[in-house]
Amino acid sequence: MFVHHNVDLAPVTAFGIHAIAESYVEVDSVDKLREAVAWARTNGVDFHVLGGGSNILVSGNVHGLVIRACLLERSSAVEGDVVTIRCGAGEEWHSVVTWTVEHDWGGLENLALIPGTVGAAPLQNIGAYGIEQSSCFVELEALDVLSGATIIITKDECNFGYRESIFKHEYCNRMIITSVTYRLSTNPTVHATYRDVVDELVARGCTQPHVKDIFDSVVAIRSRKLPDPNVIGNAGSFFKNPIVDGQTFARLHEENPTLASYPQPDGTYKLAAAWMIDQCGWKGHREGDAGVHDKQALVLVNHGNATGQQILDLSTRIQQSVQERFGVALEREINVW
Ligand SMILES: Cc1cc2nc3c(=O)[nH]c(=O)nc-3n(C[C@H](O)[C@H](O)[C@H](O)COP(=O)(O)OP(=O)(O)OC[C@H]3O[C@@H](n4cnc5c(N)ncnc54)[C@H](O)[C@@H]3O)c2cc1C
Repeated sequence: MFVHHNVDLAPVTAFGIHAIAESYVEVDSVDKLREAVAWARTNGVDFHVLGGGSNILVSGNVHGLVIRACLLERSSAVEGDVVTIRCGAGEEWHSVVTWTVEHDWGGLENLALIPGTVGAAPLQNIGAYGIEQSSCFVELEALDVLSGATIIITKDECNFGYRESIFKHEYCNRMIITSVTYRLSTNPTVHATYRDVVDELVARGCTQPHVKDIFDSVVAIRSRKLPDPNVIGNAGSFFKNPIVDGQTFARLHEENPTLASYPQPDGTYKLAAAWMIDQCGWKGHREGDAGVHDKQALVLVNHGNATGQQILDLSTRIQQSVQERFGVALEREINVW
């Protein structure tokens, strides 16, 4: 295990913000992961786990040890029409989805082209186009840094919710995910209910979509709509879509008849944060190199040399203006270091 010092995190994070990690190591096995955690303990410093860096805003230089989880492993077992796959935390998410679609295994196709690694996917229960990774999730293996043991954590224990899991709360900084197991199907029911996906399928003349059709449609939509971090630094949606009760929704809807919203099964309403941010006039706004994307108001961008603090300050001002105008609190989706 080779620990580097004073490493610029810009090349390994999607925001591309220049910030220095005091110490940095890449590990490709559970043993090396244990060694890295022990190194941090021996040196009396904190550690921070990094996957693909696509959901992190580094707000300043990072003290302690950044551990990049590069554990690579893929296996599959087919029994009847049930397919069980197990992937190492360092596997690239989209590459895994592509692999499943190539085998015609259904379940993850709506989650194509989400940047990042398998190990981070359960953390915020990644989701897109009507599906969350929890719908196929079976269990994961994690290193419990308190006991040093690798343990299995089942779906029920993960407390998955909208961009939520136990790994953002009780297990934050305690469990390092080393592999994840998903259950897929050779005979799946595809999910083509989301407006964009339906429109794309219609445009392609596809009336009976299969797994590959959904995958191709999602890839096409995302390629058109979402800014590529290789072109402009960003971490996808900066804020969650807020969820409000029926009474709040009724008030907001009366005041704003065009407010985009999605009714939830429990009677609450998910509101489109992008719409509210746009209404407050932020879309395309730029302060130096920190800005809001000109086509997608939910995405904050680094035009080149923004600092993490500038992006963070901009996000706070956006939260304040949405609160003042709509009385709704926006919660950050991304992780701030
Ligand atoms: C252009 C773009 C589009 C996006 N679209 C979507 C979308 O549609 N839906 C969606 O849900 N997300 C989306 N995201 C966000 C992002 O892709 C996901 O959150 C992804 O899961 C992050 O993976 P990562 O490996 O890059 O995690 P990182 O950014 O490296 O880490 C994120 C968090 O997970 C922790 N972590 C990482 N690996 C581990 C591990 N092995 N064990 C424990 N903790 C770990 C980190 O400490 C950090 O707190 C998008 C991002 C971008 C840039």
